[in-house]
Amino acid sequence: MLAEQDLGRALSHHRAVINPMFAYDEAMADLVFAYCRQRLALDPVPLDFGGSAAIGEALEGLMTPDGHDAVEVLRRFEEHLAVGVVSCDSPRFLSFIPAAPTKAALLFDMVVSCSSLQGTSWLEAAGAVAAENQALRVIADLAGLPQGAGGCFVAGGTAGNLSALLVARDTARRAGRGGGRPRVACTPEAHSSVGRSLHVLGLEPLLVKAVDHHLTGDALAAALEADERPEEVVAVVATAGTTNAGLVDDLAGVGALARARSLWFHVDAAYGGAGLFSSLVRDKFTGIEQADSFIADPHKWLFAPFDCAALLYREPRLARAVHTQDAAYLDVIHEGDASGWNPSDYALHLTRRARGLPLWFSLAVYGTDAYRDAIDTVVRTARGAARLIEEAPHLELVRAPELSVVLYRRKGWARPDYEAWSARLLADQIGFVLPTTWEDEPVARLAFLHPDTELDTVREILDSMA
Ligand SMILES: *Cc1c(COP(=O)(O)O)cnc(C)c1O
Repeated sequence: MLAEQDLGRALSHHRAVINPMFAYDEAMADLVFAYCRQRLALDPVPLDFGGSAAIGEALEGLMTPDGHDAVEVLRRFEEHLAVGVVSCDSPRFLSFIPAAPTKAALLFDMVVSCSSLQGTSWLEAAGAVAAENQALRVIADLAGLPQGAGGCFVAGGTAGNLSALLVARDTARRAGRGGGRPRVACTPEAHSSVGRSLHVLGLEPLLVKAVDHHLTGDALAAALEADERPEEVVAVVATAGTTNAGLVDDLAGVGALARARSLWFHVDAAYGGAGLFSSLVRDKFTGIEQADSFIADPHKWLFAPFDCAALLYREPRLARAVHTQDAAYLDVIHEGDASGWNPSDYALHLTRRARGLPLWFSLAVYGTDAYRDAIDTVVRTARGAARLIEEAPHLELVRAPELSVVLYRRKGWARPDYEAWSARLLADQIGFVLPTTWEDEPVARLAFLHPDTELDTVREILDSMA
């Protein structure tokens, strides 16, 4: 045992060698928190993107043996790099799938960072995992999944689809189904990540002919009927909210057929899953309660920061049997406490950030009604935009929006017209709107997600096409 004197010496020695990278630096904390406060207070968030011209210069000479003053590095980031990123949480960002994290979620993301919160196993992170599971349960309940359902948060919809389809493949294999060439049914409208996942997993698609761009139970039945080896089909992927047009497949019909044929029923609700909260569109999701697995991305329409996708399984034990990693040093996380839930056992990942906690905090703070109202607001904005388009003589609505994506044409325009207009719109900081393709034709696409996007902004955008 050390004498008090020696202990004091040992401690002072310890403090003397402390690495400055790990010493609390009040000035740096003030500097970074001040920047964060300023960002959080932006109302509305500007679109930004001043171009990429200054980026090279801003980065020049930064990686040196001796480093730089944090003030200088942050200045370069703020002045030249941050403005070279389009702010996807601006209410004027209407391309791809935007983002709109709540203030509570953004703040709690800083807590996750400052506390180095991981959520790999129950042994190490029970508190974080239990909270994440509470948030997952909210989504599972809305979907109508049974009490035993569960899963984890992964980095994105792509990781979620891949992880779920791996479980689908191996569960079929264990049951002796699918033969040597298992296939997965979907339509060409399924997200690109579904195709990539099948490729990674060595699975072939059975491409079902969509009915008015929707996968239906009847279409799936017909495709299986016409197929020479329908027994090879082990799973079906339906989309609840296609990314390009926001369309929801016939989940009830597909789900019922999947049950009858013992197909794994995966629902990709990466973008559209938020609709489960909405009184205006919830009925389109009838049938999702039959899913064997499904994904919904909180970093899209559930107002969480990147990167966060919820992956849920009806029977988590099937996922555990596929995803659990087996290694000597990991044995301890699978022994003992039987109630332990290891998120690492439910997807293709091991170490993971406790990325579900910002959503959890935000849900707990604001309540689920606030989510319902915010999502309803977005659906109403999309419907309002569709009305404005129908009223404008120079425009043509492609179809009524099912969720919050609106496709429309500017009469007489070809692709280069849309592109030039889109670039002008961003340069003028009016909106970030990119063209897409619909039935082999260029069209404009508005993806609504931010509850603060106003119809006046939409009017401004539509008028700019006159
Ligand atoms: C966005 C999206 C994905 C992919 O999700 P990421 O988080 O970008 O990986 C998959 N499916 C659908 C329907 C999507 O909208």
